[in-house]
Amino acid sequence: MKLSAKVNFIILPVMLVIFSLAGILSYNSQKTQLISSLSEKIEYELKHISDSLKDSLYELDSVANMFLGGQSVNKYLNNLRFDSHKNYSNKELVKSINQLELRGGEIVIFGILNSDKEEVFLYDAEDPFATIEITEAITEHFAYINENIKPQGVSELQPSRYQLLMTEKRGNEILWIRTFSPDQAISTTSFSKGHSIYTAIIKLRLPRATNYMHELKSSLGENVLINISPIGHSQTMESVTTLNFMNDKDINYGLYLANQLWKIEVSVPYTYLDKLYQPYRFLFLSIVIAVTGITFILLKSLITSRIINPVVNLTKQVEDTVPGDKLRIARLQSNDEVSLLTNKYIDLIMKLDNIAKYDHLTGLANRIQFQLELSKLVSNSLNQQTRFAMFYIDLNNFKSVNERFGHFIGDQVLKVFSTRLAESLHETNLTHGDESQFDIARLSGDEFGLVIHNVRDMNNVVQAAKNIISLFDEGFRIDNHLFDIGISIGIAMYPDDAEDADHVIKKADIAMYSAKSCSHSAYQFYTSKLSYEIERYETVTMSLKDALVNNEFYLVYMPIYDCQNGSLRGCEVLLRSTNETLAAYGPEQFIPIAEKSGLIKDMDYWVLESAFQKLSEWIKKFSFSGVLAINFSSWQLKNPEFVEKVSGLIDTYQVPPQLIELEITETCFVPGEHKNGDILSALHGLGVNLSLDDFGTGFTAFSQLIDYPIDILKIDRMFINEINKGKTEDRPLVDIIVDVAKLYHLEVVAEGVETEEQLNYVRALGCQLVQGYFLSKPLPEAEFVLLLEKSNPQVSEIVLDKEGNGDLSSPRCQVL
Ligand code: C2E
Ligand code: CA
Ligand code: CA
Repeated sequence: MKLSAKVNFIILPVMLVIFSLAGILSYNSQKTQLISSLSEKIEYELKHISDSLKDSLYELDSVANMFLGGQSVNKYLNNLRFDSHKNYSNKELVKSINQLELRGGEIVIFGILNSDKEEVFLYDAEDPFATIEITEAITEHFAYINENIKPQGVSELQPSRYQLLMTEKRGNEILWIRTFSPDQAISTTSFSKGHSIYTAIIKLRLPRATNYMHELKSSLGENVLINISPIGHSQTMESVTTLNFMNDKDINYGLYLANQLWKIEVSVPYTYLDKLYQPYRFLFLSIVIAVTGITFILLKSLITSRIINPVVNLTKQVEDTVPGDKLRIARLQSNDEVSLLTNKYIDLIMKLDNIAKYDHLTGLANRIQFQLELSKLVSNSLNQQTRFAMFYIDLNNFKSVNERFGHFIGDQVLKVFSTRLAESLHETNLTHGDESQFDIARLSGDEFGLVIHNVRDMNNVVQAAKNIISLFDEGFRIDNHLFDIGISIGIAMYPDDAEDADHVIKKADIAMYSAKSCSHSAYQFYTSKLSYEIERYETVTMSLKDALVNNEFYLVYMPIYDCQNGSLRGCEVLLRSTNETLAAYGPEQFIPIAEKSGLIKDMDYWVLESAFQKLSEWIKKFSFSGVLAINFSSWQLKNPEFVEKVSGLIDTYQVPPQLIELEITETCFVPGEHKNGDILSALHGLGVNLSLDDFGTGFTAFSQLIDYPIDILKIDRMFINEINKGKTEDRPLVDIIVDVAKLYHLEVVAEGVETEEQLNYVRALGCQLVQGYFLSKPLPEAEFVLLLEKSNPQVSEIVLDKEGNGDLSSPRCQVL
């Protein structure tokens, strides 16, 4: 999972949970607040209704009391008592009643009953013929009065009673009942039996409940419900008013107010509450979503800019970093972990980069860096139409320093050399202002690369090469040590010799190899001929490797005859290959290349093994007792295993060693080297004969022959060829060679005899053995075996087929 997805995954759920919780809590507290403000409103309304009811009641109480204690009622009752005329002053009283003005309601009934519950007056605003309806409350009141007025003395009574009447039709009415005596002040509430006692009944019609409803609805909304229920009657209004929550919570939310007279309920249904909450629900949901969203975006953008982006940038920069290119990652200034990581990474990369680019010993650029720089230089030079020179520098004989003095000293030599190299280039004046016009690199062990930029004058290049070589004029001296090393420099020019960096290096390398073939320090400019040589070298080397792996070698056999009696003395085995390339180049070309590449080691082993195998086969089949001459490369003189190899073969194939003749080429044989002598002596010690091949072409002084265990000299074809060609008065060189060989008691083989005259000449000279096209070309095994079968090498007379078999490829044999 990507870092940014991970961050989403972590912060989004956490934020959702936290903000949802906060949202729910806020919503609930909002709900509580809503309820409490609703409660306040309801409470207010309840009190308002109750107070208005109370006001009406108090007003009624005081107005009615005053009226009952007033003259009108008094007069009426006195008239009634003393005139006993029922309707006396009736009109006057009604008039007085009509003049009563009450704010809290309208008097609809005003009646007076005497102590016997008989109606003494009635005013009914709606029905002039009505009589007082004796309700239960009135009955109860009378019962109370009668019960409590003591027959003797005065009784203190609760003279008034109220009842709230609720009717569908008429609305709310207060029934007011008051017992009084016109004989005493209305405020006096103690009565005695002898008093004339009356009870007034007043019905006050209150404003209709719908008015409350209207008020409520306008303040609490359409869905509000009000219920005013009369509880009963009470003589006093001193009773406690309580305010309560309604129990019916499943349906409604509301409050009620109750006292002895009434219970007023105001409630709102839950659906209404729900509607009330709904906008808040929506609001809080929106807030949660918005806050979550905004916080998420803020957090995310902070995390992205402060953490993810630096990490992503780092990753991208790391991905974009091309090995060898400039590091494109910028250091970060802050000291958070991401910056630390980035900076640590940069340090690491720089270190790795240094390791990857520079040689740790000399501090010079390494081969990879050199190649990169060279590629850049090629494109710059192409753009600016300039030339540059590349020097491929290799130390000669450096291996011996390591071998003789150890690697530590070897390293010091390389270090000192790299410093002196740079110094010598500075002295050559290869700088242009402040800018140095050259680059040095260590390409491998003792190989260095040098590039001289912007070459205008080839003399500078030559001078640079000469100055470098002059560092080795008297060997390479460090303090008091003189190291016997030299230097080979190959030089290639861009764009003259190559079009790209790889080829510039390759061609300088080719030139260097050519310079190496000199025995002393040297420089060599690349030429196309060198290139051909290298190409040939590479093709042949490849083919040799293939041939070794695929067993594409075979042997041919060049007969060797006794020069004096013409008997077959044996043969020289010569290497051939079925590999097309090798066959085309022939052994004369592929053998030297095999020697340079070291492949000759295995090839020689293969020849030896095959030759030994043949020899033992022939001994068994034909009782062969001739010689088998086998060529081996002077390369083997450096190979300590070679002697073991030969002795091992002698043991394995159980061949008499004296039948083996090992030929070493004189051109490659360096006399005077002790090792050569040691190996030759060891070989000789095995009982095999040693012959010095191509004698006369090398530099072996005759006097040196005595130092080596050589048995046979093979006079090179070149000298045989001179026979009959030179001026008659001059003694051919071959004469001298044969004379000297006799002096050293060496057998002489005349090689490359192509004519009868040459044969006769060498025979006359006293050469013991002879080989050459005049006698036979190298033969395939089958043909050589035919020769063997026809002749016993030990029989002096060999019967040779004069005509051969007429086939050109078949051997041309001659009777000697
Ligand atoms: P080499 O040892 O001097 O071999 C003699 C070469 O001279 C052979 O060439 C042979 O074919 C050629 N030759 C002999 N008689 C005449 C003649 O009358 N006229 C002319 N024109 N040439 C004659 P080849 O086989 O091409 O070998 C060339 C060289 O390759 C050999 O010279 C030898 O140095 C090397 N060589 C051949 N086989 C082997 C081998 O098995 N091992 C090693 N180390 N070197 C070998
Ligand atoms: Ca030979
Ligand atoms: Ca030879």
